[in-house]
Amino acid sequence: MRNIVVLGSTGSIGVSALKVIARHPDKFKVVGITAYQNAALLREQQLKFSPQYVGIVAPDNTQVNGVADLKSGDSGLRLDASDATPGLRLSEKNNWVIGESCLVEAATLSDADIVINAVVGAAGVRATIAALEAGKRVALANKESLVMGGELVLQAAKRGGGEIVPVDSEHSAILQCLTGSSSTEVERIYITASGGPFRGFSKEQLENVTVADALKHPTWSMGRKITVDSATLANKALEVIEAHYLFGFPYDRISVVVHPQSLIHSMVEFVDCSVVAQIGVPSMELPILYSLSHPERIVDNGGCKFDPFRHSGISFEPVDSENFPALALGIKAGMTGGVAPAVYNAANEAAVARFLDGSLKFTEIPLVIEGALSKYSQLPADSIEQRFEADQAARDYVRAH
Ligand code: NAD
Ligand code: MG
Repeated sequence: MRNIVVLGSTGSIGVSALKVIARHPDKFKVVGITAYQNAALLREQQLKFSPQYVGIVAPDNTQVNGVADLKSGDSGLRLDASDATPGLRLSEKNNWVIGESCLVEAATLSDADIVINAVVGAAGVRATIAALEAGKRVALANKESLVMGGELVLQAAKRGGGEIVPVDSEHSAILQCLTGSSSTEVERIYITASGGPFRGFSKEQLENVTVADALKHPTWSMGRKITVDSATLANKALEVIEAHYLFGFPYDRISVVVHPQSLIHSMVEFVDCSVVAQIGVPSMELPILYSLSHPERIVDNGGCKFDPFRHSGISFEPVDSENFPALALGIKAGMTGGVAPAVYNAANEAAVARFLDGSLKFTEIPLVIEGALSKYSQLPADSIEQRFEADQAARDYVRAH
């Protein structure tokens, strides 16, 4: 039996993770859950899984008449309305830990073996570091942890004996392709991208896209922030940086290829020209389960089966770098290193929040990111505090432009 903590249990990945865990009561037990402000769903999950630890960030928790009117907190993201269900009075909650510190507390519970980090944004970084320092396996959905923390996250794992196993479907695919091989046998990693809802759009068409258009992803159903990131291709930049740190490959050996059907989740080319790909229907349930079972596999009768005859036609295209400049900007930030990826990530989060609230156009997202990068990429990056200072500077810049 492995004891699991789910950070961000009320989000898209968090809910899928609990669904996967519920199918395997003989293998996994939920010992902790945390959310930002969806108290009603958190309470439901508490009743269903009886974890020993329940935490809620609940910004501005002086409001005791419900959580509907709580404001978004330090992540700078405007949260989905579905994450603000009015419900319990905070004062009625039994043994809930309230406040930001619940993330690190839950991530370091002595009983926990695996921490699924499904928080969105830079708000998840400290919990990743703390869990790794405490020797846990971190099943990492929060890609922003590796983008912002980079080598600091890897050092935390080394210090504490923790390990990172990716949840992101592309990285799970790469891990599955690599398992059993030596890294010296690998020539190149191909990260696949659906291309998002605006694949094939011209510059003029992109000028006029709306929030509703951006939230209609062709193949994946996900939280709002990553859905917008998939439309700008910033998500792929975050994933290239994530892959660089996870697998230790230089940027010039990681390529992005558009694959509109989202059936091949990524590929590894070996030195003998063999290419191994991982295929499956676009569902996060397999990568979540694999992050818990790796390097083994578990029988999953409720899993999503792939039927090759229903999915004919697998195609590839190059990325349209000209119309989707956020990808190249992010890869450049990754290559620059230091604080640049953290600046890219924070500027992107703030820009997405502004796009979602209607104060920034879709095509302005990469422009403000570029502005923040040119101003703050040289700030010091030796500690996570310094990276959070740069993160704040980038957010302030984007809010003011
Ligand atoms: P989501 O918005 O649906 O859920 C986010 C979760 O984090 C919620 O439970 C929310 O309560 C919590 N949260 C939000 N802000 C917080 C804060 N400031 N402090 C503490 N908790 C906070 O997002 P999602 O789509 O589930 O994505 C979660 C992470 O997984 C992201 O990093 C995303 O890039 C990554 N990811 C998601 C998918 C997917 O299919 N949804 C796929 C790959 C990777
Ligand atoms: Mg992904």
